[in-house]
Amino acid sequence: MKKEKTLVVIKPDGVQRTLIGEIIKRYERSGLKLVGLKMRVVGEDFIRKHYTVDPEWFLKTGKKTIESYAKKGKTPPSEDPLEVSEIVFKNLVKYIASGPVVAMVWQGMHAVGIVRKITGITEPLTSDMGTIRGDLTIDSYEVADVDSRAVRNLVHASGSIEEAEKEIALWFKPEEIINYRLINDEILYDVNLDGILE
Ligand code: GDP
Ligand code: MG
Repeated sequence: MKKEKTLVVIKPDGVQRTLIGEIIKRYERSGLKLVGLKMRVVGEDFIRKHYTVDPEWFLKTGKKTIESYAKKGKTPPSEDPLEVSEIVFKNLVKYIASGPVVAMVWQGMHAVGIVRKITGITEPLTSDMGTIRGDLTIDSYEVADVDSRAVRNLVHASGSIEEAEKEIALWFKPEEIINYRLINDEILYDVNLDGILE
């Protein structure tokens, strides 16, 4: 559990907004350890492999999108949630492929949950203040859906341990993940705290 790993990708809007340093700082100061880092431009096939989108995601996203259209008094591209979410997914792929991204592996106790908390929920409009998506950008489902594009929320973060394992294996070769000690580890994980006083 102390070596749990998760994947974070700073999406093209995060790079374009020159927020790489600000975003890394927020994860770094939590006490998690950066064990892998690279900048890449990824193609559409790669992104389709990256996203773990199950039938439930397609149904939920499609319904959410149709509701957004209704709220605005507009007609959705289709009444079928699955057809609508197929469009959302296509837009998502286009978004991630649009420019350089920065991929990172963060390691430590509860890495997946801690990173999701620091990141905030999917929609910047409703993400809590204090989170990356809540503090640093301004998008909403409503505007994104009506403009037929993905919600721009600066970062991707793995949603579960299983997702993280799959995603890390896709983005990083085993030798690109560095196993090393930080002085910080002593205070975060040491049981007795008996190495401080001289
Ligand atoms: P995440 O885990 O919080 O990133 O959210 P998901 O895994 O559900 O969705 C992946 C990405 O697709 C999100 O980060 C958004 O960029 C985009 N997205 C998700 N849901 C919607 C939606 O309903 N409408 C639009 N336009 N984009 C969405
Ligand atoms: Mg997700």
